[in-house]
Amino acid sequence: MTIFSKIVRGELPCKKVYESDEFLAFYDIAPKAKVHILAIPKRELKDFNEIDPALMERFSAFILKVVEVAGIKESGYRLITNTGAHSGQEVPHLHFHILGGEPLGALI
Ligand code: 5GP
Repeated sequence: MTIFSKIVRGELPCKKVYESDEFLAFYDIAPKAKVHILAIPKRELKDFNEIDPALMERFSAFILKVVEVAGIKESGYRLITNTGAHSGQEVPHLHFHILGGEPLGALI
């Protein structure tokens, strides 16, 4: 079981931002920006390669709600999902990093 599944089950604490029956958003423990939220499906999928389009549609709607609740929808934010070895993914449970709350350095 992943660390994030333990958070979903309430076995590890988190600072929750927003939740639905299918998804959970909470603050990253080691923030890389003023606002750094992780959005995850409660179901354990390893990474973006395992997602199906119907789930992604619902996940997108959830993330839009999260950025609204976090107050960064208008100021802007960056979504990142690390996938696989070359990305440096550390937690093998699909998650989107939502970064914002301040100007972010250019990546590309
Ligand atoms: P990855 O490298 O897999 O894309 O990112 C994993 C993220 O999970 C990192 O940004 C890390 O700080 C965060 N993280 C790891 N363990 C915990 C935890 O127990 N709680 C929270 N809130 N975040 C965590």
